[in-house]
Amino acid sequence: MNTTAPSAASRVAVVTGAARGIGKGIAQRLATDGFAVAVVDLDEAACVAVADEITAAGGNALGLGIDVADETAVEEGVARITTELGPPTALVNNAGIIRDNLLFKMSTSDWDSVMDVHLRGSFLMSRATQKHMTEAGWGRIVNLSSTSALGNRGQTNYSAAKAGIQGFTKSLALELGRYGVTANAIAPGFIETEMTEATAERMGMSFEELKAYAVKDIPVARTGKPADIAHTVSFFLSEEAGFVSGQVIYVAGGPKG
Ligand code: NAP
Repeated sequence: MNTTAPSAASRVAVVTGAARGIGKGIAQRLATDGFAVAVVDLDEAACVAVADEITAAGGNALGLGIDVADETAVEEGVARITTELGPPTALVNNAGIIRDNLLFKMSTSDWDSVMDVHLRGSFLMSRATQKHMTEAGWGRIVNLSSTSALGNRGQTNYSAAKAGIQGFTKSLALELGRYGVTANAIAPGFIETEMTEATAERMGMSFEELKAYAVKDIPVARTGKPADIAHTVSFFLSEEAGFVSGQVIYVAGGPKG
């Protein structure tokens, strides 16, 4: 095992669901931090566009389409990242979907799709990248949970997946710690993205109305932005955070959990 930490310039980070929203914010921030970044999402053209933006701003990025729930696509995609950017030693499992409904109206496919993207996707991506981390003797995994892990009406599927992510993260931390790999979870509150815009539409209100409604319960009196989450990811991926592992941090403008 090589116990020498790689230099910042040689580190490769993979961010899933990075074509937009929180994932895009994370990819941009990690590029600024000095990581070469693999921008992963379903639509390869959208990933390439984000990677081009990062490159134009002076960073190093590769955009590629991977369905994180597809085992073959994940294996092939991580192999391509390894060849074209270098072995990935940081992973941010951010890809996500919502398929909200009250339990009695929730279809089995809405349950399965949410489990597939959040849980199976995080599992497949973590398994495919961990070998590079353990070989390097250094690694960082960050998984996106949610305040919905604490329970949320209309989200039995999503809250179960996001609570599952927390257990998954703690087990990763226990298994991989001895190889210099940390695993942590971030549980965001209300963050302004297309996902929360879709929630407003589903609830029959404008995005501005939903934000005003949400802010009433947020102690810092504002909604979150992708940069709030990106900043927390940046901390977890830093060299100095190597003694922080198995944690869940709620980034929600107030206490949760
Ligand atoms: P978003 O704007 O909907 O972006 C999620 C991205 O993930 C989309 O580009 C989506 O692609 C992609 N994706 C979906 N399924 C995928 C798959 N199988 N493989 C690869 N990529 C896939 O969502 P966001 O608000 O940025 O959320 C990012 C993460 O934070 C999610 O895990 C979410 O659950 C979590 N989170 C968000 C909030 C919030 O308030 N926004 C709060 C708590 C937690 P398509 O558009 O093509 O489907």
